[in-house]
Amino acid sequence: MITRRTVLHNAGAAAALSLAPWRDAFAAYFEQSQSVPYPPESIVTACGFCDSACGMRATVQDGAIRFLQGLPEDPHNEGRLCAKGTTAAWVKNDPDRLKFPMKRTNPRKGVEEDPGWVRISWTEALDTIAARFGEIREKYGSEALLAISRGSPAWFARLYNALGMERIDHNDLCYGVDIVVSQRTIGAHSFAWDLENAKYIVLFGWDFMARAKLSLANRLLHAKENGARVVGFNPLHTPTARFCDEWHPVRPGGDLAIALAMIHVLLKENLFDRDFAEKYTNFPQYEADIRAHFEKYSPEWAETESDVPASVIRRIAREYGSARPAVTPLHKKTLAANYQNAAPVCHAIAILNILAGNIDRPGGRYFPRTISIPALDAIYPPPAYPKLPSKRIDGREKLPLAGNYGMFSTIADGMTRVYPDRVKGIFWTGYHLNSFPQPRLLAEALKKVEFMVIVDILPMDAMYYADIVLPNTMFLEGSDILNRTYNAKSPFVVVRQPVTPGPFETRSSAFIAIELGKRLVPDYFRKADGGWISSSELLDEQTRRAGLGENFAELRKKGFLAREQPFTPRTTFATATGKCQIYVPEFAARGYEPLPNWHPKRESPSPQFPYYLITYLPGEHKRNSTQNNPILMEISLPMRVKIHPSTARKHGIGDGSLVRVRSRVGEITAQAQLTETVRPDVVVVPHGYGHKSPWLSVAGGVGETDNDLIPALRIEDLVESGNWLGSGCIMDCVVAIEPA
Ligand code: SF4
Repeated sequence: MITRRTVLHNAGAAAALSLAPWRDAFAAYFEQSQSVPYPPESIVTACGFCDSACGMRATVQDGAIRFLQGLPEDPHNEGRLCAKGTTAAWVKNDPDRLKFPMKRTNPRKGVEEDPGWVRISWTEALDTIAARFGEIREKYGSEALLAISRGSPAWFARLYNALGMERIDHNDLCYGVDIVVSQRTIGAHSFAWDLENAKYIVLFGWDFMARAKLSLANRLLHAKENGARVVGFNPLHTPTARFCDEWHPVRPGGDLAIALAMIHVLLKENLFDRDFAEKYTNFPQYEADIRAHFEKYSPEWAETESDVPASVIRRIAREYGSARPAVTPLHKKTLAANYQNAAPVCHAIAILNILAGNIDRPGGRYFPRTISIPALDAIYPPPAYPKLPSKRIDGREKLPLAGNYGMFSTIADGMTRVYPDRVKGIFWTGYHLNSFPQPRLLAEALKKVEFMVIVDILPMDAMYYADIVLPNTMFLEGSDILNRTYNAKSPFVVVRQPVTPGPFETRSSAFIAIELGKRLVPDYFRKADGGWISSSELLDEQTRRAGLGENFAELRKKGFLAREQPFTPRTTFATATGKCQIYVPEFAARGYEPLPNWHPKRESPSPQFPYYLITYLPGEHKRNSTQNNPILMEISLPMRVKIHPSTARKHGIGDGSLVRVRSRVGEITAQAQLTETVRPDVVVVPHGYGHKSPWLSVAGGVGETDNDLIPALRIEDLVESGNWLGSGCIMDCVVAIEPA
């Protein structure tokens, strides 16, 4: 049975990490679950909270989940589950879950209004949505419809594409910048870091021990077991810092200076992999430009921008250049990549990896070996999709090299100032209102939207602005084939399958997309023989065409399937030149920097706002989606603002007392936690709290929203400031503090 004690034992609390040496710390945090034998009737599936998608075994008795355990044969999680995965059944059985389709009866929207929800049938809900979206499209065109949604599952993507809808996602706050830099420097983006075979690891703001993305956390654990030296730069002493041989409290934004200075030393002292550079990169072609460019970025200069002594930077660069393999991993929400200088940070880190000769090599950043599973559009080719609006509501077209990702940071300004009357209909799924910088601005814009649909599992804050709510199934109730990409030196897949059925009248995303598609854009949801396409047929066809079995039912029985193969390093790369590109000609052709230069972060302390604001994702939560789980909240509450004791003393703030944190756009009040694990010029706020929804009995009204402090952006701000790949700058904010 899952209990709080089990969770603490199996998944642990961050506090344990601050006390124990790293080996014990990891054991306490993510104990392997093979200690409890699997009952024979257990079902293989995969966690769906984060994209580590850890393999699970679920034991079901009398229609109820008794255990969720890690799947030992899955190389992602190696038998472990984090606190979120271990307690996933709490989400499934949450009494607050959305149970039936509902419609609003009060036309006035906003947190001060009772929407007057009434239950409706699925037929009424789907017919109403189709009629309203159809009317809006007819009257105003497709640009009046907006999807606030990820690009997955593919069923939703097909619906949006068929309707010609613009889609907004969160990737400007996440790894969007690194996608573009990776494509241009090494040919493709990849989350696969072979840390366990690295000898020397440099972490710029990378904190995956706290984030509990197990596939990555396991890699660092094994690196330590294998004797790697790990160096961390971070303004906070994080759980990952416990695993570091040395931790340097870098000034926020100063990571870029250190990376540039490390490149300077590697080039000056010829401490790079010359063989790799000559065979597989464009270094020979641009050597003179590259050497001249980095000449100015000495460790002595970097010390003035980072607060890390020049002698330390020089030593680390020499160690990095002399150890093989050496690697500097970067990942989503890596702290350093969320400043305004994200593009040069990602580029400089890419160069550090290229100079180490580690691209697609053991101990480095590699491209995952995956099983080729044909996508929905390959199996059921759609008619040509209509053109998407050329002028996006988030303004991303003004950043011509930014990737195909959405911009949470600019959508509120797009909807209120740039195109105030444009969006009439919204389809919202998979996101929460307090994910957006300055969510109150977006909420004001949502009030004016004529018709908004939400697909969700729980009654979250965005429901204050919705007209129709559709109850979604969650991952323990769904089916999928998951190709591994984080730790896949040879291909393997794991299935996701329903452990128990979705409760009440919950329905899958595929059901919702197909039923709306049939009503709105039927030609896109028909097979060649005229019948409707279906999610079960798609899975059967994917299984068969990928050679995974005769059909999905057969694959479900296997649960997990690996194809061992030797790892053969690449010798060509998918860039325009077929080589890794240190100097990026495509950036130069657009008038951007072909080699990274120093740029400070956007906001620096001032007399009015004397402290850097840093936010972090508590490891026991999946961002802001698991705060209604009482076990996780028992681990994580109270929400506390971390302040260095010397800073707190200056303001008369005591440990546990209330502190008000103010930025130029908002303020929050929470308990102070005095700790020497943060720099004295930094104030640290956890992300994920402050849900307003009265329908969430655990999370509603608890804690404060970090994003109330973080400015939303205007697209012009990004263009004018040279933020040319569109980082959402969620760490680029300064604040003042005072006793509350
Ligand atoms: S790391 Fe945790 S939340 Fe992420 S997939 Fe694994 S068990 Fe689930």
